[in-house]
Amino acid sequence: MTRCDHCGNETTLPFTCQHCGGKFCSECRLPPNHNCTGIGSWNRKPRPAVGMSYSRGGGVSATGGIAADTRRGAAKKTGGGVPYLKIMIAIIILIILGFLGLLLAGFRF
Ligand SMILES: [Zn+2]
Ligand SMILES: [Zn+2]
Repeated sequence: MTRCDHCGNETTLPFTCQHCGGKFCSECRLPPNHNCTGIGSWNRKPRPAVGMSYSRGGGVSATGGIAADTRRGAAKKTGGGVPYLKIMIAIIILIILGFLGLLLAGFRF
């Protein structure tokens, strides 16, 4: 169990603030909610980046939906690029099977 640096509540999943380095409960994790010493850098950052950095810690925030959407889009992109790997594996398996066939044929004769 970890205690929230701001309100002192025990929390099983503490959120680490990227701006002041403190550990906070889900209610105090946002900089405005714990009188963050690094709130200046938080205000300067664009919202989507903040949402992504907080969702990485398992938190669900208002911008979490956007972060999840971009992650799904990235997964789709990488999924479309994978067939090269599958083709390579298929070719390697075919070559191995071919060698095994040749070896078995060699043993039989
Ligand atoms: Zn708290
Ligand atoms: Zn902070």
